[in-house]
Amino acid sequence: MAATILIVEDEFAVARGIQYALQQEGYEVTVARSGEEGLDFATHQAPDLVVLDVRLPGIDGFEVLRRLRATGSKAPVLVLTARDDEVDKVIGLELGADDYLTKPFGLRELMSRIKALLRRAYGDLADAAGGRVIRHGDLLIDLERRRVQRGQRRIALTATEFEILRHLASRPGRVYSRRELLELLRDYEALDQDEKTINVHVSHLREKIEDDPSLPAFVLTVRGAGYAFAER
Ligand code: CA
Repeated sequence: MAATILIVEDEFAVARGIQYALQQEGYEVTVARSGEEGLDFATHQAPDLVVLDVRLPGIDGFEVLRRLRATGSKAPVLVLTARDDEVDKVIGLELGADDYLTKPFGLRELMSRIKALLRRAYGDLADAAGGRVIRHGDLLIDLERRRVQRGQRRIALTATEFEILRHLASRPGRVYSRRELLELLRDYEALDQDEKTINVHVSHLREKIEDDPSLPAFVLTVRGAGYAFAER
Protein backbone atom coordinates (compact mmCIF):
# COMPACT_ATOMS: atom_id res chain seq x y z
CA MET A 1 0.00 0.00 0.00
CA ALA A 2 1.54 3.30 -1.08
CA ALA A 3 2.01 6.06 1.47
CA THR A 4 -0.89 8.52 1.61
CA ILE A 5 -0.18 12.24 1.46
CA LEU A 6 -2.50 15.16 2.17
CA ILE A 7 -1.85 18.52 0.50
CA VAL A 8 -3.51 21.52 2.15
CA GLU A 9 -3.24 24.38 -0.33
CA ASP A 10 -5.85 26.78 -1.72
CA GLU A 11 -3.90 27.76 -4.84
CA PHE A 12 -5.14 25.39 -7.50
CA ALA A 13 -2.07 25.44 -9.76
CA VAL A 14 0.35 24.80 -6.89
CA ALA A 15 -1.78 22.02 -5.38
CA ARG A 16 -2.28 20.36 -8.75
CA GLY A 17 1.44 20.46 -9.57
CA ILE A 18 2.42 18.84 -6.28
CA GLN A 19 -0.36 16.31 -6.56
CA TYR A 20 0.67 15.29 -10.04
CA ALA A 21 4.34 14.95 -9.12
CA LEU A 22 3.55 12.83 -6.06
CA GLN A 23 1.15 10.61 -7.97
CA GLN A 24 3.88 10.00 -10.55
CA GLU A 25 5.99 8.64 -7.68
CA GLY A 26 3.23 6.25 -6.71
CA TYR A 27 1.82 8.06 -3.67
CA GLU A 28 -1.85 8.27 -2.91
CA VAL A 29 -2.67 11.98 -2.77
CA THR A 30 -5.60 14.03 -1.50
CA VAL A 31 -5.92 17.83 -1.84
CA ALA A 32 -7.78 20.00 0.67
CA ARG A 33 -8.54 23.61 -0.31
CA SER A 34 -8.95 25.10 3.13
CA GLY A 35 -7.56 24.65 6.63
CA GLU A 36 -10.88 23.30 7.91
CA GLU A 37 -11.12 20.73 5.15
CA GLY A 38 -7.49 19.70 5.64
CA LEU A 39 -7.87 19.33 9.38
CA ASP A 40 -11.01 17.27 8.95
CA PHE A 41 -9.29 14.93 6.52
CA ALA A 42 -6.10 14.67 8.58
CA THR A 43 -8.05 13.88 11.74
CA HIS A 44 -10.28 11.22 10.22
CA GLN A 45 -8.12 9.64 7.52
CA ALA A 46 -4.72 9.79 9.23
CA PRO A 47 -2.53 10.39 6.14
CA ASP A 48 1.11 9.32 6.39
CA LEU A 49 2.35 12.86 5.68
CA VAL A 50 0.89 16.36 5.32
CA VAL A 51 2.11 19.16 3.02
CA LEU A 52 0.66 22.28 4.59
CA ASP A 53 0.57 25.79 3.16
CA VAL A 54 0.69 28.57 5.76
CA ARG A 55 -1.45 31.09 3.87
CA LEU A 56 -4.94 29.68 3.67
CA PRO A 57 -8.41 31.22 3.73
CA GLY A 58 -10.18 30.69 7.08
CA ILE A 59 -7.91 29.07 9.64
CA ASP A 60 -4.30 29.35 8.49
CA GLY A 61 -1.69 26.61 8.26
CA PHE A 62 -0.27 27.32 11.72
CA GLU A 63 -3.68 26.88 13.32
CA VAL A 64 -4.22 23.66 11.35
CA LEU A 65 -0.88 22.38 12.61
CA ARG A 66 -1.58 23.39 16.20
CA ARG A 67 -4.99 21.67 16.19
CA LEU A 68 -3.65 18.60 14.41
CA ARG A 69 -0.90 18.10 16.99
CA ALA A 70 -3.47 18.66 19.75
CA THR A 71 -5.32 15.57 18.49
CA GLY A 72 -2.14 13.56 19.11
CA SER A 73 -1.26 13.15 15.42
CA LYS A 74 2.44 12.55 14.88
CA ALA A 75 2.27 12.46 11.08
CA PRO A 76 5.21 14.35 9.55
CA VAL A 77 4.19 17.83 8.38
CA LEU A 78 6.06 19.83 5.75
CA VAL A 79 5.10 23.50 5.90
CA LEU A 80 5.12 25.74 2.81
CA THR A 81 5.92 29.35 3.62
CA ALA A 82 5.03 32.16 1.25
CA ARG A 83 8.38 33.91 1.33
CA ASP A 84 11.74 33.65 2.96
CA ASP A 85 10.20 34.53 6.28
CA GLU A 86 12.26 33.53 9.30
CA VAL A 87 9.33 34.14 11.63
CA ASP A 88 7.15 31.68 9.70
CA LYS A 89 9.85 29.02 9.91
CA VAL A 90 10.33 29.48 13.63
CA ILE A 91 6.60 29.42 14.37
CA GLY A 92 6.11 26.38 12.16
CA LEU A 93 8.89 24.39 13.77
CA GLU A 94 7.74 25.39 17.26
CA LEU A 95 4.24 24.20 16.48
CA GLY A 96 5.59 20.81 15.48
CA ALA A 97 6.32 21.06 11.76
CA ASP A 98 9.01 18.61 10.68
CA ASP A 99 10.37 20.60 7.76
CA TYR A 100 9.54 23.67 5.67
CA LEU A 101 10.02 24.90 2.13
CA THR A 102 9.88 28.46 0.90
CA LYS A 103 7.83 29.28 -2.20
CA PRO A 104 8.67 29.18 -4.99
CA PHE A 105 10.32 25.78 -4.75
CA GLY A 106 11.24 23.09 -7.23
CA LEU A 107 9.20 19.92 -7.30
CA ARG A 108 12.36 17.84 -7.21
CA GLU A 109 13.39 19.52 -3.96
CA LEU A 110 9.92 18.96 -2.50
CA MET A 111 10.03 15.31 -3.50
CA SER A 112 13.36 14.66 -1.84
CA ARG A 113 12.21 16.39 1.37
CA ILE A 114 9.05 14.27 1.43
CA LYS A 115 10.97 11.05 0.93
CA ALA A 116 13.40 11.99 3.70
CA LEU A 117 10.52 12.77 6.08
CA LEU A 118 8.77 9.48 5.33
CA ARG A 119 12.02 7.58 5.85
CA ARG A 120 12.68 9.39 9.12
CA ALA A 121 9.15 8.73 10.39
CA TYR A 122 8.64 5.19 9.21
CA GLY A 123 12.16 3.86 8.65
CA ASP A 124 12.93 1.41 5.87
CA LEU A 125 9.28 0.54 5.48
CA ALA A 126 8.64 3.90 3.84
CA ASP A 127 10.46 2.66 0.77
CA ALA A 128 8.31 -0.41 0.53
CA ALA A 129 5.59 1.45 -1.41
CA GLY A 130 3.66 -1.16 -3.36
CA GLY A 131 5.31 -3.93 -1.35
CA ARG A 132 3.48 -6.11 1.08
CA VAL A 133 3.19 -3.55 3.82
CA ILE A 134 -0.05 -2.74 5.59
CA ARG A 135 -0.30 0.75 7.07
CA HIS A 136 -2.85 2.21 9.40
CA GLY A 137 -1.88 5.57 10.87
CA ASP A 138 1.66 5.01 12.15
CA LEU A 139 1.20 1.25 12.49
CA LEU A 140 3.15 -0.63 9.82
CA ILE A 141 2.97 -4.34 9.25
CA ASP A 142 5.58 -5.78 6.89
CA LEU A 143 4.11 -9.09 5.81
CA GLU A 144 7.22 -10.38 4.11
CA ARG A 145 9.69 -9.57 6.84
CA ARG A 146 7.11 -10.24 9.54
CA ARG A 147 7.94 -6.96 11.22
CA VAL A 148 5.66 -4.53 12.99
CA GLN A 149 6.36 -0.89 13.81
CA ARG A 150 4.60 2.07 15.39
CA GLY A 151 6.35 4.97 13.71
CA GLN A 152 10.02 4.07 14.08
CA ARG A 153 9.52 1.89 17.12
CA ARG A 154 9.86 -1.81 16.38
CA ILE A 155 7.36 -4.03 18.14
CA ALA A 156 8.22 -7.64 18.95
CA LEU A 157 5.22 -9.95 18.55
CA THR A 158 5.00 -13.69 19.10
CA ALA A 159 4.26 -15.78 16.01
CA THR A 160 0.66 -16.18 17.13
CA GLU A 161 0.15 -12.48 17.79
CA PHE A 162 1.62 -11.64 14.39
CA GLU A 163 -0.68 -14.13 12.66
CA ILE A 164 -3.77 -12.75 14.37
CA LEU A 165 -2.77 -9.22 13.38
CA ARG A 166 -1.92 -10.28 9.84
CA HIS A 167 -5.28 -11.96 9.28
CA LEU A 168 -7.28 -9.10 10.77
CA ALA A 169 -5.33 -6.26 9.13
CA SER A 170 -5.36 -7.87 5.69
CA ARG A 171 -9.11 -7.28 5.55
CA PRO A 172 -10.03 -4.19 7.59
CA GLY A 173 -13.62 -4.23 8.80
CA ARG A 174 -14.09 -7.95 8.25
CA VAL A 175 -15.20 -9.62 11.50
CA TYR A 176 -13.40 -12.81 12.50
CA SER A 177 -14.99 -15.03 15.11
CA ARG A 178 -12.75 -16.55 17.78
CA ARG A 179 -13.42 -19.99 16.31
CA GLU A 180 -12.35 -18.78 12.87
CA LEU A 181 -9.14 -17.23 14.18
CA LEU A 182 -8.37 -20.42 16.05
CA GLU A 183 -8.76 -22.41 12.84
CA LEU A 184 -6.55 -19.99 10.93
CA LEU A 185 -3.85 -20.25 13.57
CA ARG A 186 -3.88 -23.98 14.04
CA ASP A 187 -1.00 -24.51 11.64
CA TYR A 188 1.28 -22.06 13.34
CA GLU A 189 1.27 -23.12 16.94
CA ALA A 190 -0.25 -25.91 18.89
CA LEU A 191 -3.00 -23.86 20.40
CA ASP A 192 -5.19 -25.09 23.14
CA GLN A 193 -8.52 -25.60 21.39
CA ASP A 194 -10.32 -23.18 23.61
CA GLU A 195 -11.70 -20.02 22.06
CA LYS A 196 -10.74 -18.04 25.14
CA THR A 197 -7.12 -18.57 24.14
CA ILE A 198 -7.74 -16.04 21.37
CA ASN A 199 -8.83 -13.44 23.92
CA VAL A 200 -5.53 -13.85 25.74
CA HIS A 201 -3.47 -13.45 22.57
CA VAL A 202 -5.51 -10.44 21.45
CA SER A 203 -5.07 -8.85 24.83
CA HIS A 204 -1.28 -9.31 24.65
CA LEU A 205 -1.28 -7.99 21.10
CA ARG A 206 -3.19 -4.88 22.17
CA GLU A 207 -0.79 -4.22 25.02
CA LYS A 208 2.01 -4.12 22.45
CA ILE A 209 0.44 -2.14 19.61
CA GLU A 210 -2.29 0.04 21.10
CA ASP A 211 -1.80 3.38 22.88
CA ASP A 212 -4.55 2.41 25.28
CA PRO A 213 -5.34 -1.34 25.23
CA SER A 214 -8.70 -0.68 26.91
CA LEU A 215 -9.68 1.68 24.06
CA PRO A 216 -8.16 -0.05 21.05
CA ALA A 217 -7.74 1.88 17.81
CA PHE A 218 -6.53 -1.04 15.67
CA VAL A 219 -7.86 -4.39 16.89
CA LEU A 220 -11.51 -3.86 17.74
CA THR A 221 -13.91 -6.11 19.62
CA VAL A 222 -17.20 -6.72 17.84
CA ARG A 223 -19.53 -7.74 20.65
CA GLY A 224 -20.96 -11.19 20.34
CA ALA A 225 -19.09 -11.75 17.07
CA GLY A 226 -15.33 -11.57 17.45
CA TYR A 227 -12.62 -9.16 16.33
CA ALA A 228 -12.05 -6.82 13.39
CA PHE A 229 -9.25 -4.54 12.32
CA ALA A 230 -10.27 -0.86 12.17
CA GLU A 231 -11.12 0.57 8.76
CA ARG A 232 -9.35 3.77 7.76
CA1 CA B 1 -2.04 29.55 -0.12
